[in-house]
Amino acid sequence: MTSRMKAVVYLGKEQIAVKEVEKPKLKPGEVLIKVHSAGICGSDLGIYAGKHPRAKAPLIMGHEFTGEVVETLATESDIKVGDKVTVNPLISCGNCQPCQTGNAHVCKKLGLIGIDIDGGFAEYVKVDAAKVLKLPQDLPLDVACLVEPLAVCVHAVRKSILKAGDTVAVLGGGPIGLLTAITARYAGASRVFVTEISESRRDLARSLGFTVIDASQDPEAEILSLTRGNGADVVYEAAGVPATATLATRLVKITGQIVIVGVFKEPAKVDLQAVNFRELSLIGVRVYTPRDYEVAIDMLIKNQEIGRVISHKLPLEQAQEGIELMRGTGHSMKILLQP
Ligand SMILES: [Zn+2]
Ligand SMILES: [Zn+2]
Repeated sequence: MTSRMKAVVYLGKEQIAVKEVEKPKLKPGEVLIKVHSAGICGSDLGIYAGKHPRAKAPLIMGHEFTGEVVETLATESDIKVGDKVTVNPLISCGNCQPCQTGNAHVCKKLGLIGIDIDGGFAEYVKVDAAKVLKLPQDLPLDVACLVEPLAVCVHAVRKSILKAGDTVAVLGGGPIGLLTAITARYAGASRVFVTEISESRRDLARSLGFTVIDASQDPEAEILSLTRGNGADVVYEAAGVPATATLATRLVKITGQIVIVGVFKEPAKVDLQAVNFRELSLIGVRVYTPRDYEVAIDMLIKNQEIGRVISHKLPLEQAQEGIELMRGTGHSMKILLQP
């Protein structure tokens, strides 16, 4: 085997290059994965824009990936060469208070493979065997790239007060919004509204069976009229922009809950007076627990139609194009890079 490989390397603000780099060398406990597919995430756009607080160039991005194990130095692990796998990319310190009290996913020093160390936008990636999860044979490796983003949504729904029969509004119909809507329905929501500006994203949401609302019209009036003036039991904010932060307190019913799933790039205005008067609860969610990962894998096995959230599959060489598509006007959904 040659010791070089192709990788997409982040070189600095708005600069990436597809380059030949050194293939990773394993340390004890690690496995080498030949990457099949790797999803581009909103946080990768943040890195590309030079706005990520931790990512430092040069870096191989990519934290949502699948592939096949081709080498292992993990003698204690049951992960074997030939296994089809995905990876839980979280890196926790193990020593801080959250880590020691069962909340390693919100470790004070939380890092991610593909953000803090090299990730999956490459032909090969090396990973600590403890972070590797075997996938069943009948789950295609492209669909399985959705495990990571779906786990974010599973976490959001499991942390919320959603009960069987509830009405849900999801603000934002991008990949995270749609996966949240799918998860809320899976958890027993009887009615799921998805608000979205982009027409192509609305079409996809509609074809998946959701009640779709054009966010550029008057989503507040529409959702209130569809709920006899009461609003939704739970509102999942999945856009991460000031407009939806404002909208959330108006769409949620009295005593309802708002869940902040979208990642806000800067602080947004929230009507805390509405939180008082309408006795709302407001929670934030960050990444996922190992249990959320299990649930996400199980959901994908049961319903591979979730794979429709993937809109593009591009070779590594077109990483730049993939990033531009994602930064564009919302014609794309989840974009995979395939070495
Ligand atoms: Zn992600
Ligand atoms: Zn920690």
